[in-house]
Amino acid sequence: MPRTVYVNGAFVDENEARVSVFDRAFLFADAVYEVSAVIAGRLVDNDAHLARLRRSLGELGMSMPCTEAELIDIQRELVTRNHLDEGALYLQVSRGAADRDFRFPRDATPTLVMFTQARALIDDPVAARGLSVITVPDMRWKRRDIKTVALLPASMARTQAADAGVDDAWMVEDGKVTEGSSNNAHIVTADRCIVTRHLGSEILHGITRAAVLELSRREGIEVHERPFSVDEAMSASEAFVTSATAFVCPVVRIDGRAIGDGSPGPISRRLRELYIEMARASAN
Ligand code: PMP
Repeated sequence: MPRTVYVNGAFVDENEARVSVFDRAFLFADAVYEVSAVIAGRLVDNDAHLARLRRSLGELGMSMPCTEAELIDIQRELVTRNHLDEGALYLQVSRGAADRDFRFPRDATPTLVMFTQARALIDDPVAARGLSVITVPDMRWKRRDIKTVALLPASMARTQAADAGVDDAWMVEDGKVTEGSSNNAHIVTADRCIVTRHLGSEILHGITRAAVLELSRREGIEVHERPFSVDEAMSASEAFVTSATAFVCPVVRIDGRAIGDGSPGPISRRLRELYIEMARASAN
């Protein structure tokens, strides 16, 4: 069944949707995006995603293509039109189409695109068995806090992981883990503290990361926001990643070494449960 997607003011069949070859997303990766989870037909933590969208746009000198209320109306309409019960809603704003020129055009009209992807998020078999990851050098640019569509290094890392027969890659810079190819990376120490990289321009400020750290603190779990090395991760008692669609997903193997006993740890499993409970209760 072809999906209905949204492009610049219109809901259209995915096979009919068109964007200009001069769109700056296509020529310069001059675009930012957000992915919100959908569960039971409702958006999870969407206000936080739209707040980060506004920030990403602002950092690149772009403004919101319409009001936040209008964006939410379009998102909900798209979920409804596609009968999406569980999955993801992708939203992208580019600077728009303009003749090819490195300088930002002054008068381009932003391109707004949205589409849905149906997928089981809650009963994800990968979360039950845990992820195996490899470590790779972080080859991205220095403003990873801006959620741009320049995803080639992440795409290469994920492909390298798949070629190595594992699920994902953790990116490493100066001996320290930055984040996963499309998620934030966390470890749990022997004394039950969560260690996760501090916010800065080296990582994306994950919306799920923020929610999960808040839930952890409420559970009485200490959180240390600082860099950690691959060695520290390998000798941790647990490891996990967070993202809008993975929620909390245990990591059980790094570069072939088992983490803890090599199965999803109790804190990771508990945080996944708590996050899903919160997401179900607050999705709207
Ligand atoms: N880091 C990177 C590099 C990502 O691509 C993502 C997911 N888009 C995340 C972290 C997780 O962010 P969020 O929890 O907002 O999905």
